[in-house]
Amino acid sequence: AAKKSHGKRWLFYDETYLPAEQSKLELEKEMRYGLERGEFQLHFQPLYRIDTNTVSGAEVLMRWEHPERGLLFPNTFIPLAEESRFIIPLGRWMIREVCRQWSCWKTQEYEPISLAVNISVNQFLHPDFLAELEDALREYEMDPAYLELEITENIPFSDSYAIAVLEHIKQLGIRISIDDFGTGYSSLQYIQRLPVHTLKIDRAFVCDMMHNRNNKVLVETILLMAKQLDLDVVAEGVEEQEQLEFLKENGCALVQGYLIGKPTEAVLFRSKWL
Ligand code: C2E
Ligand code: MG
Ligand code: MG
Ligand code: MG
Repeated sequence: AAKKSHGKRWLFYDETYLPAEQSKLELEKEMRYGLERGEFQLHFQPLYRIDTNTVSGAEVLMRWEHPERGLLFPNTFIPLAEESRFIIPLGRWMIREVCRQWSCWKTQEYEPISLAVNISVNQFLHPDFLAELEDALREYEMDPAYLELEITENIPFSDSYAIAVLEHIKQLGIRISIDDFGTGYSSLQYIQRLPVHTLKIDRAFVCDMMHNRNNKVLVETILLMAKQLDLDVVAEGVEEQEQLEFLKENGCALVQGYLIGKPTEAVLFRSKWL
């Protein structure tokens, strides 16, 4: 009986019973320890070029190997990292790791591929962002032409500081893509004027486009528009052959999705795709 009540008492202190603010603080603390202890990892998802039938790059996605809770996906910790600004050191670490991995594969004489890394708004607007980016490239001798930064439409494209950062990134020879394109509010006028290379069509539109006329039209329209503006397009979340055929017919050059490959750790990615 004593054991039973002990079990109950423990349940009472389970994190689901904690006030939201307190469990946030806990998770934030765990993230800080986690970064120090090397619990964060990079997973790589292939980016497939339809016309050449090759994997020309990868998107690098963050994972957290939590000591108790196992492998955590970004939706469980990135929003809080952004809210608490822990995204600044975490994002800095991520960029350095991406450069380090690129260099490592180069040293091993694999054909170089481009690596795309997600950048949060706060990270992008942080005053040290550009200097740290340049440091990472220099330190690991990464060719900037192989680096792609994925930003979202949350970035204030009309803001003069944000535009200056974009121009600087372009001058460094780094490519820029607009992630989750179609879900935000960015005006096409800005996209056209800014040094953007790629639009990534959000998975939400791609996943049901074969059965949802609105989304099909939207995807077709983005592809047409991108062609006019001379932008690359990546269709995200391609899971079925039928979707790939449709994208091919409509002039989409690049696709990403479970049909090609799921995100996997560096060693597996390398043995499968490099
Ligand atoms: P995202 O940049 O749009 O990344 C694509 C997400 O879609 C990834 O989820 C990927 O695993 C998933 N995905 C790709 N293909 C398919 C598919 O065919 N079917 C399905 N169902 N899903 C697919 P993930 O890895 O959970 O990442 C979620 C989001 O977390 C990312 O969305 C990105 O916004 C954010 N994120 C990931 N890593 C980082 C990072 O290092 N920094 C920042 N700031 N955000 C990150
Ligand atoms: Mg992305
Ligand atoms: Mg995306
Ligand atoms: Mg997305």
